[in-house]
Amino acid sequence: MASTPAANSEEFSPSRACRLRDVPRWDFESDVVVVGFGTAGASAAIEALAAGARTTLFEAASGPGGTSAMAGGDIYLGGGGGTPVQRANGFHDETEDFFRYMLMAGGPDADEQRTRLYADGALAHFDWLREQGVPYSDRYLPGKVMAPGTGDCLIWSGSEIAWPYNQKAKPCPRGHLPEVVGEMGGRLLAETLARRAEEAGLETHYDARALALVAGEDGRVGGAVLRIDGQVRYARAANGVILCAGGFVLNREMLQRHVPQLSRLAPDALSGGYDDGSGIRMGQSVGGAAIHMDEVFVTLPFYPPASHVKGILVNQAGLRFTNEDAYPGRVAVHCLRQAGDRIFLLVDDEIFEPPTELSRIEIAAVGQTWGEIEGELGLPPETLESTVRIHNRHASRGEDPLFHKTAEWLKPLDRPPFAALACHLGEAFYPYFTLGGLSTLPTGQVLTADRETVPGLYAAGRTCCGLPRSAEGYSSGMSLGDCTFFGRLAGRTAARTPLA
Ligand SMILES: Cc1cc2nc3c(=O)[nH]c(=O)nc-3n(C[C@H](O)[C@H](O)[C@H](O)COP(=O)(O)OP(=O)(O)OC[C@H]3O[C@@H](n4cnc5c(N)ncnc54)[C@H](O)[C@@H]3O)c2cc1C
Repeated sequence: MASTPAANSEEFSPSRACRLRDVPRWDFESDVVVVGFGTAGASAAIEALAAGARTTLFEAASGPGGTSAMAGGDIYLGGGGGTPVQRANGFHDETEDFFRYMLMAGGPDADEQRTRLYADGALAHFDWLREQGVPYSDRYLPGKVMAPGTGDCLIWSGSEIAWPYNQKAKPCPRGHLPEVVGEMGGRLLAETLARRAEEAGLETHYDARALALVAGEDGRVGGAVLRIDGQVRYARAANGVILCAGGFVLNREMLQRHVPQLSRLAPDALSGGYDDGSGIRMGQSVGGAAIHMDEVFVTLPFYPPASHVKGILVNQAGLRFTNEDAYPGRVAVHCLRQAGDRIFLLVDDEIFEPPTELSRIEIAAVGQTWGEIEGELGLPPETLESTVRIHNRHASRGEDPLFHKTAEWLKPLDRPPFAALACHLGEAFYPYFTLGGLSTLPTGQVLTADRETVPGLYAAGRTCCGLPRSAEGYSSGMSLGDCTFFGRLAGRTAARTPLA
């Protein structure tokens, strides 16, 4: 390897590809180059290696994991009658129910082909995860839980039981967590996959940031420019480059441009530290289109305690706006759609428990009547009172004709003292990460705005816009499911598709 830098790393930008003819030498040569060692990159590498491709991975951080290692590790799986864990716990999950749910969750522009592949392949994918060494118990944890950290496997991790999803697909729990105690599921998953990739012969370079892609005059991507030890290096990829560099939640300029409504929230970006959009920008530099850049997973951990799901959320006009029993990600999207940043969760004495410290949900008002609360919050008379009166009347009959909350979570709020909990935008904890990214085929091949493939370029995980592409429909487990399943497919495809 040459020791003198051929160029200053400052000269490169992810938004500008390096011309092939400007590459002074190749410091690394392989068939497939993977950028980023989260779960998408590790899955791509494992499969590229299994298909016989010489594979080299470059990771900007000093170790594997990325944002994947911070995750709960939940993967959304089902269909085919059920995974072994679903079946062991008495759940039968038809592929068509799984497919329909996923399609709804994908929103109005759901990718039907991708969803079909995932629904048909999810059981085999679970087997594959186990074969890689990811441990799963057979245990089911009922109820409304988030990242329980108990070592149990199967949880309800989406809006399956809630309206409108329950109208189109038979509900089934589909969140599958690795067997580990503490909130370490993502770390275990990411490290297990990374280890498997390295055991399979992956050449890995840490502290190695991809600065730009290398592309020929004909637009083919033939490699990447890296910064390693402060030096510029060039990696040739005979078959192609797979971008698995995460999303853009840490890129303020991109967020401001694509998701300006996030400025209403406190800066609670969910990231392992490198989601700066460089992968997406590299893809765009060679003609890749970026889609659904305004879709951002956002959530509001207003439970635990689960009893708070029986409360009702109102906006600053004192009006209710959603069914509170849906996945909190969907609930948070509806909070963000309200005019005004003040959002209140109304609870009575029967269901009140102190909110978690994490949620930053504070008590805004306490009173013996809803009229008192209304006054304390400064709402016009008869607004909040009337909302609660209507809710209570319906809830006492086990109905919610306005928002279709299921009977299990309905109760009249009639046990004083009452409280309004402040879930305000900009104050409470509304963490978020990006869902938009490069447009790809399910094989990972990056597409232009005209839906033509960019030769030699692939993307997976949050660098692309995959299965999860609607914040409203997101269920926990969809991102890691997408990263691992379609990361694998990108790895296989790149390995088998040499550039002519
Ligand atoms: C607290 C938390 C909990 C979550 N829980 C879940 C869950 O339970 N289930 C679920 O489905 N999702 C969950 N998510 C979301 C999920 O973790 C991410 O969407 C997913 O891990 C993204 O994986 P990835 O492989 O695309 O990116 P990452 O895992 O972030 O990997 C990308 C890698 O690329 C590297 N990189 C970036 N730029 C460059 C560059 N230019 N050159 C070289 N390397 C680069 C980064 O350092 C990183 O290691 C959670 C997220 C958080 C933060």
